[in-house]
Amino acid sequence: PYDVLVVGGGPAGASAAIYAARKGIRTGIVAERFGGQVLDTMSIENFISVKHTEGPKLVASLEEHVKEYGIDIMNLQRAKGLEKKDLFELELENGAILKSKTVIISTGARWRNVGVPGEQEFKNKGVAYCPHCDGPLFEGRDVAVIGGGNSGIEAAIDLAGIVNHVTVLEFNPELKADAVLQDRLHSLPNVTVLTNVQTKEITGTDTVNGITYMDRETEEEKHVELQGVFVQIGLVPNTDWLEGMVERNRIGEIVTDKHGATTLPGLFAAGDCTDNPYNQIIISMGSGANAALGAFDYLIRN
Ligand code: FAD
Repeated sequence: PYDVLVVGGGPAGASAAIYAARKGIRTGIVAERFGGQVLDTMSIENFISVKHTEGPKLVASLEEHVKEYGIDIMNLQRAKGLEKKDLFELELENGAILKSKTVIISTGARWRNVGVPGEQEFKNKGVAYCPHCDGPLFEGRDVAVIGGGNSGIEAAIDLAGIVNHVTVLEFNPELKADAVLQDRLHSLPNVTVLTNVQTKEITGTDTVNGITYMDRETEEEKHVELQGVFVQIGLVPNTDWLEGMVERNRIGEIVTDKHGATTLPGLFAAGDCTDNPYNQIIISMGSGANAALGAFDYLIRN
């Protein structure tokens, strides 16, 4: 059996595997797609100490680093179930069962899509999901934020300090964000809030040039010219397959303590699939390292 089996090969999983392997213990990593969300990222400018890099380039160095150690890498393998007997038993979609003394879940998350025409076509060409990452690319431009919950309004406030103008589109008749955030938003001169509107299409040629929405009361369609659209309608953690195994919060994120431990002894979690408040590459890597040290500590005590 493994001492540490990591499920997920994004920055959190890669970091967890390296930290575990450096303790000289038997380590494996299972990933549906090694690299995770980073593979879909164009330009990265907030990975501290590297001024600029690109997703696939960072993934190549992650892989090279993982391969420095005797880690079993099982790429293109999807986990579908986990059981705890004497050991943990991880079942893969291909039917294989992997046994381990501890498991670190780092299966990440995905941004919820709005599912309108133009969204897929203009991803990374004006359609963005992460204001911390991509906000500065829209300096001086006009952008929209889809979603009036806390993340949408935080994004709008953040972007208003960088871009020329922000239009917020909320489907419901009222914003759902906390009152303090709404007050802050309404105090800003360069923000327009549209409520009770449904996004219909993100338009563009090579890159985004506007957004079409419908006023849900009058059913009238309108078009706003702008260069960027930030979709902020929630993150979906990849944790459905752990249903009933471990405590998850209201939105499905795995609940962890300071050591990365979950409610099930020997099971740890790291990165975007957990209830960590912020989801970033550097934070996921720190979280993976933390969970691996937590797992090692558990192993020497049990
Ligand atoms: P992920 O990167 O999501 O990796 C999850 C891993 O788990 C993958 O290998 C996946 O295949 C695997 N997996 C999932 N389910 C299973 C399963 N059932 N069985 C086996 N494997 C499974 N952050 C920044 O800091 N800077 C940026 O500039 C930046 N830009 C971004 C741009 C885009 C377009 C996106 C999508 C994200 C961006 N982020 C950025 C956020 C950052 O990519 C994430 O916070 C980070 O990748 C999370 O790492 P993770 O390891 O927790 O999860």
